[in-house]
Amino acid sequence: MRIMIADDSPMIHRLLKKFVEESGHEVCFQAENGQEVLDNIEETKPDLIFMDITMPVMEGLEAFKRLRESNVDIPVIFLSAMGDEEIVNEAKKNGAANFLTKPFKKQDILEALKFLEV
Ligand SMILES: [Mg+2]
Repeated sequence: MRIMIADDSPMIHRLLKKFVEESGHEVCFQAENGQEVLDNIEETKPDLIFMDITMPVMEGLEAFKRLRESNVDIPVIFLSAMGDEEIVNEAKKNGAANFLTKPFKKQDILEALKFLEV
């Protein structure tokens, strides 16, 4: 799979990219906020997006809503900090594929990817 990562933390980018590549997938774009996701979605055409909830400029849930409004149905796995549960539940109601709570382990990423490959 070609995967887009959206997060405002360079540390999360490094970690997630490592896990994605070790599991045999490719990171096709790294966004720092939701606006960058929207701006690059057509060109990069990812199979999956890992999306942080809290980001500057445009947060994850807003970017997710706008994707769905423009009929982009790419699966989105939200990355949430502790305390984001309500937001995440709303996202799931609106069709998010999954969510992972930070700090996540490599095993969490592998399981989330395996679930989507089936
Ligand atoms: Mg963040």
